[in-house]
Amino acid sequence: MIKTEQKQIQQDIEVAIECDRCKKLYSKDNYAYQEILRIDFTAGYLSAFGDGYQVQCELCSDCLHQLISDFCRKSEY
Ligand SMILES: [Zn+2]
Repeated sequence: MIKTEQKQIQQDIEVAIECDRCKKLYSKDNYAYQEILRIDFTAGYLSAFGDGYQVQCELCSDCLHQLISDFCRKSEY
């Protein structure tokens, strides 16, 4: 028989994201929150970031547009 007991668990819950470029804070109830690009990867061999480095970044839509609009491809949905 499995015995159980109740425990209160504290948990970190994401409530907002700060853009790493412009530092603007986007709360979860802000529509723009859904447009934030999350980058999270481990750089590989010969990567400009350095082999094995963990790279993380959150960018808001405005900053992403400023960074890639000159060369990105886009089309209407
Ligand atoms: Zn930004």
